Amino acid sequence: MSTHKGSCLCQAVQYEVIVPEGGQNTYTVCHCKDCQKYTGSTYASNFVLPATHLKLTKGAEGAEIMVYATTNTTSGNALMRYFCGTCGSALYNKTAANDQVVVVTSGTLDDPIDAAMQPAREIFCIDRRAWLKPLDGLAQHPKRLERLQ
Ligand SMILES: [Zn+2]
Ligand SMILES: [Zn+2]
Repeated sequence: MSTHKGSCLCQAVQYEVIVPEGGQNTYTVCHCKDCQKYTGSTYASNFVLPATHLKLTKGAEGAEIMVYATTNTTSGNALMRYFCGTCGSALYNKTAANDQVVVVTSGTLDDPIDAAMQPAREIFCIDRRAWLKPLDGLAQHPKRLERLQ
């Protein structure tokens, strides 16, 4: 188990997350179209954690933190995508189907967590950009993982 600090680009939002032992097992690369839009990049790389493992240390939902709910999801469950209202950094997701889980964007972590762990899987590989190759040693899933929703 390890605690990591994270923040948005403008620092209006800061947080701490607890990554449990074996946390790399939840570290997931997602290629879906929505994650491409949300991150403004080619894929997301997220930790899927118990909601209690995310603690906001600066900024609050409804104030500094804005939310956009996507309803046209593969699972049919609304996905709430939280972001900084000032700088637009993509921070974390929650699903309407399970309020016990939070999906934290690894790109907003402050410390170089990738030195200690790397993702365990890629999901929505059907949407992977043509110029991207599957990452070495990672489980490949064409669409979503049931247990992560
Ligand atoms: Zn910000
Ligand atoms: Zn996605």
